Amino acid sequence: MDLINKNIAVIGARKSGIGAAKLIKHFGGIPFVSDSKNEEYLKEYIELLKHENIKYETGGHSEKVYDSELIVVSPGVPSDSSVILEARKRGKKIISEIELAYNFCKGKIIAITGTNGKTTTTAMCDHVFNKCGVTSYAAGNIGLAFSEIVLDVKENEVVSLEVSSFQLDLIDKFKPRIGMILNITPDHLNRYNNKLENYINSKLRLYENQDKEDYLILNKDNELTLKSLTKPKSKVFYFSLKEKIENGCYCEKDIIYYCEKGKTLFKCSLENINLKGEHNYANAMSVIIAAKIMGLDNKKLKEALGNFQGVEHRLEFVREINGVKFINDSKATNIDSVWFALKSFNNPIFLILGGQDKGNDYNQIKDLVLEKVKKIYAIGSSADKIFDFFHGIVKVEIQPSMESSVAASNKEARENDIVLLSPACASFDMFQNYEHRGRVFKEAVKNL
Ligand code: ADP
Repeated sequence: MDLINKNIAVIGARKSGIGAAKLIKHFGGIPFVSDSKNEEYLKEYIELLKHENIKYETGGHSEKVYDSELIVVSPGVPSDSSVILEARKRGKKIISEIELAYNFCKGKIIAITGTNGKTTTTAMCDHVFNKCGVTSYAAGNIGLAFSEIVLDVKENEVVSLEVSSFQLDLIDKFKPRIGMILNITPDHLNRYNNKLENYINSKLRLYENQDKEDYLILNKDNELTLKSLTKPKSKVFYFSLKEKIENGCYCEKDIIYYCEKGKTLFKCSLENINLKGEHNYANAMSVIIAAKIMGLDNKKLKEALGNFQGVEHRLEFVREINGVKFINDSKATNIDSVWFALKSFNNPIFLILGGQDKGNDYNQIKDLVLEKVKKIYAIGSSADKIFDFFHGIVKVEIQPSMESSVAASNKEARENDIVLLSPACASFDMFQNYEHRGRVFKEAVKNL
């Protein structure tokens, strides 16, 4: 990719945007970073841009963006944002930040996408490879931008790359050595014109450039993935919690098996997987497949799976008080992840639910709530909707804040109960983001 003396606009002035701009500069291009948010909001990032001597604008996108030869888009910018639509209308070449970085990557990319589990699986994959002696970099939506680390990655090293569907919408040649599609369930539909098909198609772009030297890891239990799959050119490995698999991973009587052509090459018990819950066993299976494809050692792999600690805000254990465990699952921003959270516990649950609703159908968790939940504390702008739905099924109480929900749960929960924040909603009605929501929960629990 020749960037020399090219004027290149970068949309988004946060971590990935700055990473992309630095990369462009490194290869002789002239970056211009543009963000719709105001300078005050972006303060810390603007400092970095100034430090790097990179030109920028805030509070909107000017003609300078559309005059550039190439537009690079940060992961947080949705595909239907006005700047992308306008650039498309004008026939500009637009690529995502991962596409840009891909062009300069010498290492092997393990690209991880799906509706739920991307961050957990990316972190687990990164942990496993590093523990098994293969240097891995965790990048993408997980924290470090791909552009930020790409120049450090050597030929025999690995990038565990979390990839969102917005990033896949804007790829061109992006071709991971291993691609993982963990699952596809309806989410973010508001950003895909409410068309499930568009959302699925962007996830499936993960393997569109793969060839027979590459690998694709898919979830055999996920109906939407199987239904929509067009024949990949790459070698396909499946994982399943429900059925035996010839090439890939499956689980039988609490043992996970990895097979190639029906021959078992690795096995470990579910007990050996440190993260609990069916969803995490599925995540672990996809990592095991990647690990075995890359020839990692069985003993080290088992050890690494056994000591992976998980990621903050995903079923994170906070504290135990008088036999009541408090769990922070603030990242559960859709119904599907709450379903898996409820499935993960056998003890009675006090559930803190609610926030900014993205069109949730609570029927999906109705049976599990009936079976496991003692009481719901409904919070945020969707509290009334939650109350109306669950009233008559289980005890529901509308609470004005996170602190009051935690205090109420502390009064009512008894030994062996679980207090679970797993909101099924976005956080923006009450908090800056899900991390902020999780921290407020943890703080309230710590103050009890
Ligand atoms: P993502 O990065 O895709 O949003 P995370 O790893 O951050 O995924 O997890 C988001 C939420 O989904 C958390 O509540 C987590 O416990 C749950 N989760 C993790 N893995 C899965 C999975 N495979 N299927 C469903 N839910 C999952």
